[in-house]
Amino acid sequence: MSPETACIFCHIVAGRAPAAKIVETEHALAFLDLFPSTDGHTLVIPKRHYENLFEADEETLPEVHLLARRVARAMRQALAPDGMMALQLNGAAAGQTVFHYHTHLIPRRAGSELRIHGREQADPAHLAALAARIGAELE
Ligand code: 5GP
Ligand code: ZN
Repeated sequence: MSPETACIFCHIVAGRAPAAKIVETEHALAFLDLFPSTDGHTLVIPKRHYENLFEADEETLPEVHLLARRVARAMRQALAPDGMMALQLNGAAAGQTVFHYHTHLIPRRAGSELRIHGREQADPAHLAALAARIGAELE
């Protein structure tokens, strides 16, 4: 089985798996994390499958990160967090659990517990509403 066939993010890109999508461009997609660390926790991915930063291609990587900046700005408008954590994990030893390149955008409140991964699955209806709120602030 190819990595793409088994990859949940490839299924989301192709529309075969559900996700609260915020926005997509030709090569990149932003959607809400299903197990959010904080409310609004977002993932920005290349539509093309590659595993990590080491494998990333020059065509899509800039687009992924320009989209991350655009979405981070919209999240700041929609959610008014105190700060925004942007991070990207490479390899299981670094905490990577989905092996399709992605950047996390995690809105943070002053003094809140510092976590990358959430423990509970979010309500899909809540995520859909949040995606619409963030999407409405996109420039
Ligand atoms: P990593 O640990 O690989 O940096 O992060 C993978 C992220 O993907 C985790 O935050 C996890 O909650 C999220 N995730 C895993 N499966 C799904 C899914 O099916 N849908 C969505 N929207 N997020 C997922
Ligand atoms: Zn993939």
